Amino acid sequence: MSEIAHYYAGSRQAGTSGRSQPVFNPATGSSEKTVALASTQEVDTVVAAALEAWPAWSKTPALRRARVLDRFKTILWERADQLAEAISAEHGKTHDDALGEVTRGLEVVEFATSAPSFMKGEFSENVGTGVDSHMIRQSLGVVAGITPFNFPAMVPMWMFPVALACGNCFILKPSERDPSASLLMAEWLTEAGLPEGVFSVVQGDKEAVDALLHHPDIKAISFVGSTPIAQYIHQTGTANGKRVQALGGAKNHMVIMPDADLDMAAGALMGAAFGSAGERCMAISVAVPVTDAVADALIEKLVPQIEALKIGPASDRASDMGPLVTEQHMNKVRGYIDAGEAEGAKIVVDGRTFKQDMQGYENGYFVGGTLIDDVTPDMSIWKEEIFGPVLSVVRRNNYKEAVDLIHSHEYANGVAVFTRDGDVARNFSNEIEVGMVGVNVPIPVPMAFHSFGGWKASIFGDHHMHGMEGVRFYTRIKTTTTRWPSGMRTQSEFVMPTLG
Ligand code: NAD
Repeated sequence: MSEIAHYYAGSRQAGTSGRSQPVFNPATGSSEKTVALASTQEVDTVVAAALEAWPAWSKTPALRRARVLDRFKTILWERADQLAEAISAEHGKTHDDALGEVTRGLEVVEFATSAPSFMKGEFSENVGTGVDSHMIRQSLGVVAGITPFNFPAMVPMWMFPVALACGNCFILKPSERDPSASLLMAEWLTEAGLPEGVFSVVQGDKEAVDALLHHPDIKAISFVGSTPIAQYIHQTGTANGKRVQALGGAKNHMVIMPDADLDMAAGALMGAAFGSAGERCMAISVAVPVTDAVADALIEKLVPQIEALKIGPASDRASDMGPLVTEQHMNKVRGYIDAGEAEGAKIVVDGRTFKQDMQGYENGYFVGGTLIDDVTPDMSIWKEEIFGPVLSVVRRNNYKEAVDLIHSHEYANGVAVFTRDGDVARNFSNEIEVGMVGVNVPIPVPMAFHSFGGWKASIFGDHHMHGMEGVRFYTRIKTTTTRWPSGMRTQSEFVMPTLG
């Protein structure tokens, strides 16, 4: 059994805590690897090395920092398949889906290569007679990222390319369920010329996270994961004086208006609900057809497509959808379908009956695509995040009822409306209280040069991720006011200085 290591001092480092846990292949249900779980002392060692590397890295010209990231980007393009395979082997998602994740992460690296541009400050000439003023952006120091299992490459890349481009040193604490992708990225950064100590990986669980949250030399924490942990990270991190952005869970609705193109809406729902087995924070888990007639027609289109889903391992490139990440998570998702049934919803397509009969994969954590109709807002399957291939249908009679339903949910990550009516589309995107909105786009994940983040219980903290929001999060501004000798006044001033 091999052990997945940490990464610091420019190479993989075996764990010394004596603690580890198994990492499973979700498609087979077997485990051939363990992951090291860092102790507080190991975290201290990594933070100390990062702190030592920071002065030189922060003073490296932004253009040169960007060139390192540019070389990293080229390596990522060339080895995207290798990274995708590492992701699929521990996460379970299909190869093409993993490649898509790598590409979306790579786009943030592309954005980060424009560091000389976004690190530019501001200058005002003659703010007073003979006085100029300028603002610069400076890095924070050592920052950390704590990431979830569902995007082991993309979510870290929402964070570290921007953090590094801004001149910070970055410590990644990946999910212990699929930790291998982090090591490949660390090695490729070193190969691209990133100096030792500037990017490190500590594998681990709560002990490592708590060590980062309490460490006085960590200046900022970026977190993506479930809402209870996001809240904990935000509270603990800010109580320890750190800047924190903590993105949490989601329950994303898609409103289907009577004038929508129903074939387009059904096709979009298939990918958005069942892609990556529903383990996406931007997955659509609730369809909200407006009127019963739309609901009936939509369900009629969805059922045969759900029944035709090809569910299998990533090694079968024809698979549409893979297994769930762990046995425990599979049982949780099945439990939600049981709960929906018990609460009176109608199970139209039942993924619990799916059996994987491909040889070697009989013990994988597979659940079939599931469609549940007549879901109501008092049911746990509407209130809670299921994070599996389960699409609920909540029928509404009109647009206002649909909007009220969405507004009554605690989460507000993503949302979509399918309509051909420009007024409805415009009103919806203006008034809906959700962070990311799609109009005839089911998964409106913003591009790297915009910023990603939800509202309400889907985020704690003020800054979204990547784009200029990422730059603002990973930098602090400094403003210098300069009086040139020729403009100097000679007398002392004891009143509040004014310049004009
Ligand atoms: P999780 O909250 O269980 O874990 C996230 C990270 O927190 C991991 O690195 C884990 O090791 C750490 N962690 C877990 N329990 C902890 C504890 N008690 N104390 C300290 N650290 C702890 O989330 P997950 O199951 O890996 O990921 C799925 C969740 O992430 C879903 O809720 C999903 O919606 C959310 N997610 C949100 C976004 C977003 O952008 N809003 C994106 C991706 C995933």
